[in-house]
Amino acid sequence: IAKTEGRRLYRFYTPTLNREILEQFQLEQALRQAFERNELLLHYQPRVEIATGRILSLEALVRWNHPDWGLVSPTRFIPIAEATGLILQLGPLVLRLACRQIRQWRAAGVPTVPVAVNLSAGELYQEGLAQQIGSCVADFQLDPAELEFEITESAAMRSIDQAVAILSNLRDMGFALSIDDFGTGYASLSYLNRLPMQSIKIDQSFLAEIGNIERHRQSAAIVKAIVGLGATLDLHIIAEGVETQAQRHFLLEHGCQVAQGYLFARPLPADRIEPLLRAGYLPLDGADASG
Ligand code: C2E
Ligand code: MG
Ligand code: MG
Ligand code: MG
Repeated sequence: IAKTEGRRLYRFYTPTLNREILEQFQLEQALRQAFERNELLLHYQPRVEIATGRILSLEALVRWNHPDWGLVSPTRFIPIAEATGLILQLGPLVLRLACRQIRQWRAAGVPTVPVAVNLSAGELYQEGLAQQIGSCVADFQLDPAELEFEITESAAMRSIDQAVAILSNLRDMGFALSIDDFGTGYASLSYLNRLPMQSIKIDQSFLAEIGNIERHRQSAAIVKAIVGLGATLDLHIIAEGVETQAQRHFLLEHGCQVAQGYLFARPLPADRIEPLLRAGYLPLDGADASG
């Protein structure tokens, strides 16, 4: 049986591999064109105060609307952008789009909240990042406090001394900082203490297991430990990927005050965020969860 399976695997493996390489290449070519064709845009997902539903800030999430393929997930094209250097074009574009949106909302009399922008490793360690960010924010006449940057734990750990220097610089300029996908990247506590961020975002994989019969115990312990860490180090804790009322109640019970997830709102285009910002609050009955 093993032999047959092995042969079968082999037979399907080669074409699949070729198809993947071809697909990667196609994606890369199309992504290069996406910039000129204005196919990249931002969606925004609210972060809310769990107890009240008050919108505290937004996370900007890039979207690629390809004419034939529709919306391509950033989990597919960000790694390609990182591998090909296109991230050095994508990052500044995302920041410009976010800054422009804040300005537009303000011009329209919409009460704005800070917007968090993701920085991947390829951007973080790029020469001149702080200067580029500073001049973009100045171009749009924004206050640095209106922006936040999210860096994944693993990106920060890749070169911790350099990360501390770069992030301290951004912090001194007045930007808020958060560590994204926390709990998956093996940051030691002493390193964590050196990073000048204000918030930690609990990786959504832990939230996904809250309420799961087999896996609840371990993830619940991790979430509680991270919330405790936040209290000790005086950091805000944001729970990512909150989808159910049970998860929301678990967080409330254990002292986590801020969350982001489909239960409250999906990432939405700017025109759908606008009325939410005007209202200031999201409904807490989960009616919005279907997006
Ligand atoms: P992330 O920064 O950790 O963003 C959170 C992801 O979780 C987003 O996926 C969001 O749509 C999704 N999400 C939010 N709430 C829920 C929920 O309740 N359940 C589930 N299952 N998922 C939820 P998205 O938009 O597909 O982005 C994926 C990743 O791509 C991001 O993870 C981030 O690492 C990267 N990314 C997205 N936009 C940008 C960007 O502008 N620049 C950079 N460098 N990376 C980006
Ligand atoms: Mg993020
Ligand atoms: Mg995350
Ligand atoms: Mg992530």
